[in-house]
Amino acid sequence: MKGFAMLRIGEVGWIEKERPACGPMDAICRPLAIAICTSDVHTVWEGAVGDRHNMILGHEGCAEVVEVGSMVKDFKPGDKVLVPAITPDWNSLEAQAGYSMHSGGMLAGWKFSNFKDGLDAEFFHVNDADGNLAHMPEGMTLEDASMLSDMVPTGFHGVELADVQFGDTVLVIGIGPVGLMSVAGARLRGAARIIAVGTRPKCVEAAKFYGADEFISYKNGTIEDQVLKMTDGKGVDRVVVAGGGVQTFESAVKSLKPGGKIGNVNYLGSGDYINIPRVEWGVGMGHKQLIGGLMPGGRLRMEKLGALVTSGKLDVSKLTTHLFHGWEHIPEALQLMKDKPADLIKPVVILDNKI
Ligand code: NAD
Ligand code: ZN
Repeated sequence: MKGFAMLRIGEVGWIEKERPACGPMDAICRPLAIAICTSDVHTVWEGAVGDRHNMILGHEGCAEVVEVGSMVKDFKPGDKVLVPAITPDWNSLEAQAGYSMHSGGMLAGWKFSNFKDGLDAEFFHVNDADGNLAHMPEGMTLEDASMLSDMVPTGFHGVELADVQFGDTVLVIGIGPVGLMSVAGARLRGAARIIAVGTRPKCVEAAKFYGADEFISYKNGTIEDQVLKMTDGKGVDRVVVAGGGVQTFESAVKSLKPGGKIGNVNYLGSGDYINIPRVEWGVGMGHKQLIGGLMPGGRLRMEKLGALVTSGKLDVSKLTTHLFHGWEHIPEALQLMKDKPADLIKPVVILDNKI
């Protein structure tokens, strides 16, 4: 089969590979649409998870099942499915401990385009099909379905990690597609005031739509100075970090009230350490918590988030700004995500031709 791969750090291209084999609990799927992710950029051009040779890219999209293993109960060839970016081994001890995303080791629930070939190929393999796939809701567009793989669950996971409560003031750092979904998730969780860090007009417009009340530019001075000014020196209850680099944590700690929580879902592609400022961390006693996490993945989450979309309570259509038709557009869509033109939020490629 043909696929679009990371050949080595900094280089991508089309390759030929064996079609994956289907184990008893697995499914083999054919992608219907794929979305390109900022994580692909970190992986390919920053080498952030290390060198990967001839690894087929892609972890966001939706698909049709073409084959299932003998033990798969709920899916059959021809079914249209949502595919989570994170596909844990649900019978692992890590999953039993509540950390499905680390099943088999740190971040090892993230298999596509990390530990095995991803979605950008004629066929791809899904482990634990009953535990990881979800039926695509009737009438959902392929581009909306693709947003459920990673953007919605990751943005929402940042909100879960920051533990947003009714009436909270929430700071969302970075309003790319992940941060936009953190804004949407914070609103659904009952935040009273959402301050977003970001300036690109397209993202600001979308962030307003999803519930951001006020905006800060990280180019206009430090985030913390602006947040403290806006909150009469008090700071915010919660911070979701969905953009920036290792330096962002210093701002997040300084912007946070004592007892507050920081939820990070940003993929830190470079830098060796993050700095926690001693004084603003309450000289070690400020009860300011910081947790960073990969989203948990799996079927139940896909089904629940899909229900939010079909019920009309979450409109993900604002995320797809660039829609392509045809396999040949995958390299162009990846390049767009790398270049980040001002009008881009998310590129999606509908795979409606022969590879
Ligand atoms: P994006 O690049 O589109 O958005 C990040 C935004 O942060 C951009 O708009 C950028 O302008 C802004 N930014 C840059 N520097 C900043 C700073 N110093 N302060 C504030 N904002 C700043 O990326 P995205 O697609 O929205 O993804 C966000 C991050 O989440 C990426 O690192 C991505 O790899 C990661 N990610 C994590 C998971 C997970 O499971 N944890 C899943 C998917 C993506
Ligand atoms: Zn992704």
